[in-house]
Amino acid sequence: MTSLQLAASTLTDAFGRVARDLRVSLTDRCNLRCTYCMPADGLAWFPTEDVLTDDEVVRVIGIAVERLGVEKLRFTGGEPLLRIGLEGIIAATKQLRTARGVAPETSLTTNGVGLDKRVKGLAAAGLDRVNVSLDSLDRERYAALARRDRLPDVLAGLAAAEAAGLTPVKVNAVVMRGVNEADVVPLAAFCLARRYQLRFIEQMPLGPKHEWDRSKMVTQAELLALLGEHYRLSPAVEARGAAPAEVWQVEADADQPGGRIGVIASVTAPFCGACDRTRITADGQLRTCLFSTRETDLRGRFGLARTTNSWPRCGRAAMPRRRRPTASANPASPNPSAP
Ligand code: SAM
Ligand code: SF4
Repeated sequence: MTSLQLAASTLTDAFGRVARDLRVSLTDRCNLRCTYCMPADGLAWFPTEDVLTDDEVVRVIGIAVERLGVEKLRFTGGEPLLRIGLEGIIAATKQLRTARGVAPETSLTTNGVGLDKRVKGLAAAGLDRVNVSLDSLDRERYAALARRDRLPDVLAGLAAAEAAGLTPVKVNAVVMRGVNEADVVPLAAFCLARRYQLRFIEQMPLGPKHEWDRSKMVTQAELLALLGEHYRLSPAVEARGAAPAEVWQVEADADQPGGRIGVIASVTAPFCGACDRTRITADGQLRTCLFSTRETDLRGRFGLARTTNSWPRCGRAAMPRRRRPTASANPASPNPSAP
């Protein structure tokens, strides 16, 4: 296939990056209020009628997979477990076939609350794996960070996900100075012991306005220094590809089995050059970059009746506006809403 043919059949940007990984937000609502993500009182939620219906979500994803070269789907939010039709959406998307003739890979990014009660249905629907957000193993610190006392529910969700075979289970943790640095090593020990893949995320300038303060962000270098006091780390040998996390191998010792820990250094070491992700918000906006302030309305502007043709057209038209690969997180232009 020539590069022109490839660009015509995929979501390719002006720098040759092809979006194969589609992140689909299923709701803007959440049952937690993590300080780095949402104000204590929540957001002005989308009116229900603005949120894509289950059928619309499946239709938009179907076009992305069957006509635009998307191969991986990640369901997110807000909190995607709040979406009643989640299992049905996953089951329908698993019926799709990519250009390679296989079902798309599916994963779920969740805060884990209530996951234990849904895992069997999610696995039966065809979900491949989960990423669970867990910023602290200390109940009080967790409650202060999430503004809800739900740590036991999250731990139950993690255990249930593993038991249901939604593996490898991945754990995401945001670390902030003076808030939860004390959790870095306990989280590492917890995940290594269970063979969960832990990924620390540098706090990004998203979420509540004026909340982000670079001096409070714990950087990749600081995280590695903290981990290095307890573990022997070496960079993973495999090529990173389009993965947002840079991965380190943790050597086994008498106390722990070893494993891998990643850091998503979106602020100090942005990985835009190889980015293969694009996003659809719960109200049907295509957002080609997490830090983009521009959105393309897949539903209202083009009309749902014409989505079949308008989505590929406007999706391809939006891609050339993607940021340059060297761009980094810009606190001066925070996102219009949470990731
Ligand atoms: N509610 C789900 C959850 O918490 O996993 C899915 C949505 S949440 C927005 C997706 C991920 O974004 C979580 O791992 C969360 O920690 C991360 N996140 C949210 N705001 C962030 C920020 N300002 N900086 C870095 N990561 C952030
Ligand atoms: Fe909710 Fe996830 Fe944001 Fe926390 S990070 S408030 S769980 S959407």
